[in-house]
Amino acid sequence: MDAHKSETELREELARLRERGTALEADVARHQQVEQSLRDTALNYRIIADFTDGWEYWRNPEGLLRYVSPACERITGYTPAQFLARDDLLCEIVLPEDRAVFEAHRQQTGDVPGPYEVHFRIRRADGAVRWIEHACQPVYDETGAFWGWRASNRDITDRKRDELALQDSRQTLETLMRNLPGMAYRCQNDHDWTMEFLSDGCKALTGYDPADLLQSAVISFADLIHPDDREAVWHSVQDSLRAGEPYEMFYRLQTRYGKEKWVWEQGREITLNDGRTCLEGLITDITLRIRVEEALRRSEARSRALLDAVPDLMLNLDRDGIFLRYHDAGMGTHVPPMEFLGQSIDDVMPALAGRTRYAIDRALKSREVQILQYQLPLGDDIRDYEARIVASGDDEVVVIVREITARVQAERALRASEERLRTLIHATPDIICFKDSDGRWLLANEAILNVFGLTEANYRGQTDLELAEISHGHHEVLVNCHATDEQAWAKGALSRADEVIPRPDGEERTYDVIKVPLFHPDGKRKGLIVLGRDITERKRSEELLHRREQEFRALADNNPDLIVRFDRDCRHLYVNPAVSRMTGIAYEDFIGRTPADLGMPENLVARWNVTIGRAFKIGQPVESEFAFDTAENGPRDFHSHAMPEFAEDGSVQTVLVRIRDITERKEAEEQRIKLAVERERVSVLASFLENVSHEFRTPLSVIYTGLEALERSALLDESNVQRVGRIQEQAGYIGRLVDSMITMSRLDGDPNYVFDFHDLGMVMHDIKHDIERLAQLKQLAVSLDLPDDLPFVYCDPYELRRALFAICENAVDYTPEGGSITIRASHNPAHVLIEVADTGIGIAASDLPHIFERFYRADKARTGRRAGLGLAIARTIIEAHQGRIDVQSAANQGSTFRVTLPLMASQ
Ligand code: ADP
Repeated sequence: MDAHKSETELREELARLRERGTALEADVARHQQVEQSLRDTALNYRIIADFTDGWEYWRNPEGLLRYVSPACERITGYTPAQFLARDDLLCEIVLPEDRAVFEAHRQQTGDVPGPYEVHFRIRRADGAVRWIEHACQPVYDETGAFWGWRASNRDITDRKRDELALQDSRQTLETLMRNLPGMAYRCQNDHDWTMEFLSDGCKALTGYDPADLLQSAVISFADLIHPDDREAVWHSVQDSLRAGEPYEMFYRLQTRYGKEKWVWEQGREITLNDGRTCLEGLITDITLRIRVEEALRRSEARSRALLDAVPDLMLNLDRDGIFLRYHDAGMGTHVPPMEFLGQSIDDVMPALAGRTRYAIDRALKSREVQILQYQLPLGDDIRDYEARIVASGDDEVVVIVREITARVQAERALRASEERLRTLIHATPDIICFKDSDGRWLLANEAILNVFGLTEANYRGQTDLELAEISHGHHEVLVNCHATDEQAWAKGALSRADEVIPRPDGEERTYDVIKVPLFHPDGKRKGLIVLGRDITERKRSEELLHRREQEFRALADNNPDLIVRFDRDCRHLYVNPAVSRMTGIAYEDFIGRTPADLGMPENLVARWNVTIGRAFKIGQPVESEFAFDTAENGPRDFHSHAMPEFAEDGSVQTVLVRIRDITERKEAEEQRIKLAVERERVSVLASFLENVSHEFRTPLSVIYTGLEALERSALLDESNVQRVGRIQEQAGYIGRLVDSMITMSRLDGDPNYVFDFHDLGMVMHDIKHDIERLAQLKQLAVSLDLPDDLPFVYCDPYELRRALFAICENAVDYTPEGGSITIRASHNPAHVLIEVADTGIGIAASDLPHIFERFYRADKARTGRRAGLGLAIARTIIEAHQGRIDVQSAANQGSTFRVTLPLMASQ
C-alpha cells in the first residue's frame, strides 16, 4: 500500500530529522534564527489562515493547539479562544458515532507524515450537526525539522447531503433495475446493432429467441427499434462514444407481436481481449414504469386536488370528546394547543359539545362521515366552520375542520337571492315559466298555473304537449305554445308576440308574451324563459283610443269649422282640411310647428299664445274672436273655442280649438241691428200714424158722406161734378193710405196671424174675382192658370189674400188698357210658386232693388195717389209665411212677381 510505504519513508525521515534536531539544539545561534523564521512563517500562515474560508488550526509536535483560525466560530459555534483554552474541545464536539474514526486518525497522525483526510460529524454549540472534512499535514522547516501539524477543516454538510441523496437514488435505481425485466447484450457498433450476445430476457422483451437476433439471423435489433426512434438511438450512442462516456437513452421497441414497449438502455464501449471494440449494455422494459409514471402523474393531479382540499385543521378526539392530537395546516386554532390537548370538548367548546358528542357517537357506530356545521366568533366576525368527523379507530375519531365562511356566505346570498326571485315570481301577476332544453316545465308561477288551469296539476317535468292533455280547456293554447317555443328556439333570440288565451269563463285575454331562449357556450339549448303580461285592458283602451281617434278624424276632417289641436308649446298636432284650405298651408307643414314658425301675423301669434296658454293653465274652455285674411275668401271674422283635453292623471295634455267663420253671422247681426233701428223708427212712425189715422177716419167719413150727398144732388153743374169726383178720389187715396198704414203698423206690431191648412186654389179664385172687377174698367184680360192637384198650404188665408191682392192690384194699375194679366200657380214637393205676370210698363233696373221698401214709389209724379206700401205689406206677410217674393222686370217689358211658399215648413 502507498500509505504504508510513505509511512516507512516518513519514519526514516523522522529519524533523520531527529538527528538534525539534536544538531540544532547544539547550535543556539541557528536556533534563534530558526525561532525568528518560525515566527515569520507563523505570522504568514496566520494571515493566510485568518482570511481563508476554512477553519484552520495548528498543533505543535506535542499535540497542543497553538493557533485556531476565526472561521471555526462560523463552522462550530465556538470561538478560537474556547478551542485554545480547552485542548480536548475538538474531540468532544465530534459526534460519538464518529469519534472512533476521529481518534484513529489522531493516533495515526502522530507518526504519519503525508496529508491525511477524514470525514466526521460535529455537534455545533447550538446543537446542529455538521459534516466536517478534516485534512491535516505535518509541517517541516527547510532543514527538515518537524514543527507540528497543520489541520484544515471544511464544512461539507451540504455536499454530504447531496452525496447521500445521490446514494439513495442510486440504490433506488438499482432496486428498480433488479425488479424490472430486461436484457443484457453485447453488440457491434453498426447500423444493425449486430448482436453477439443476448441474455434470456430477450424473449420476454422482444418476443424473439436470442438466436433469432444473434448476428441478425432472423431480424436485426435495429429493425426492432421504433422507426421514429432509430435515428435518435444511433446518434445518441455515437455522441456518447465520441465523448468517451457511457450512453443512456429511452426509446420504443416493437415486439414480435406488434406491441410497443418503452425501454431504457444503458451501455458503454468495451475493448475485448482480442483488441476489438464493441458495445455492452442492458435494455430494460420500462413500459410499465412509463405507464405507472403517467398514472402517477394523474394520481398526483388527483392528490394535488385532494391536497388543495386539505382541511385547515385536523384534530383527533376520543370517544369521550377528549382532544388527543392536532395537526394544523394553516388555519391555526383559536385556543393555544396546550389549552385543549387532553381537555374535553365540554370544557373547550361547551356550546358545541352536545352536537359533537352525538356526531362522534354516530361516526364510531356507523363508520360513516358525520358533518357538523357551526359558527364561532372571531373578533367582531362570526366565522362558519364545517367539521367532518370520521372514525379512525374503535374509540377515536379524526375531526377535519375547514373554515367555510365564504362558502356559507355565498350560499346564504344565493339562497336569499333565490328566495327573493321566488317571491317575486309568485307575487307578480305576470305569467312566468322556466322550461328546460326539452321544453319541460321547471318552475311556473301561480299566475301561469291559474291561466292554464293547472293549479292542481303536477306540472314539473312535463312539456306543453303533455300538459295540454291534462289542462282544462287549454289544449289548443298549450299546443300553440309549444309551436311558438320552437320558433323562439329557431330565432335564437328574444321573441315577443301577443297571444290570446281564453279564461275558464270564456272571456278572451290578450297576453304580451316574451320568450327568451338560453344557450350553453357551445350553442346547445339550455333553457327557455317564458314571460307574459295580461294586456287585455291596455289593448282595449288602445283600441278604444284608436276608434276615438278615427271618430275624431272623421268628424274633424269633414267639419266645415276649422279644427286645430295644439300641444303645450303651441305646436300644431292636428289641423283639419278646412284649415289648410283657409290658410293655403299644407297639412304636413302645420304639424310640429307653431303659428310663429308658420309666419302668421304677429297679433295672431300673440293671441294664440295667450289663448292656448290660458286653456292649459285654467283647464277650462277659452273663447276668443279674431280677424284673419284668408287665402280662400279674403278677410274674414272668426270665433275660436279652445277646449282643453285631459290626460288620465287629470293634467291638460292638448288643447283642441274649433274655429268658426262668423263673417256672415256678424254681417247678419249688423243687419239685424240696422233692422232693429229701422223697426224702431217705423214703429214710432206707425204708432204715430195709427193714432193720426184713427183721427183721420172720422173727418174722412164725414167728407165721404158729404161728397155722396153732393153727388146725388141735382144742383151740381158739370164742372162741379168733376170737382166732387176729384175730391172723392183724393179722399179715397187718403182713406187707402190710412188703411195701409194701419195694416202696416198692425203687421209690425201684433199681426195675429191665424195659420191653418187652406186650399190655395180657393184663395186664388177669390183674388181673380176681385181683380177682374178692377180689370174690366181698363179692359184688361185676366187669366188664372191653376193645376188640378194644387196642395193645401199652411197659411193665414185672409192675410195671404191681402198680399196677393196687393200684387195683382199693382199689375192692374201699372198695365195700360188692353193689356193682360196672368195668374199662375205651380208646385213641387217643397214649394208652391205663385206668379203674377202683367204686360205693363215694367220696372226700371234702378228701381228694382227698392220696390219692396216702404213708401217707395218708382214714378212719384205719376203715382201721386199711391202710398208706396202695397209691396212692403205683401212682403211682410209672405215672409211671415216663411215664403219669398221677388220680381222679374224691365222697363216697358211687363213684370212678373213670384211668390214662393214652403209646403213642408210647418207640416
Ligand atoms: P204703390 O202704392 O206706389 O203702388 P207699391 O208698394 O204697391 O206702392 O209699389 C211700389 C212701386 O213699385 C210702385 O210705385 C211702382 O212704381 C212699382 N210697381 C209695383 N208694381 C208694379 C207693376 N206691376 N208694374 C210696374 N211697376 C210696378
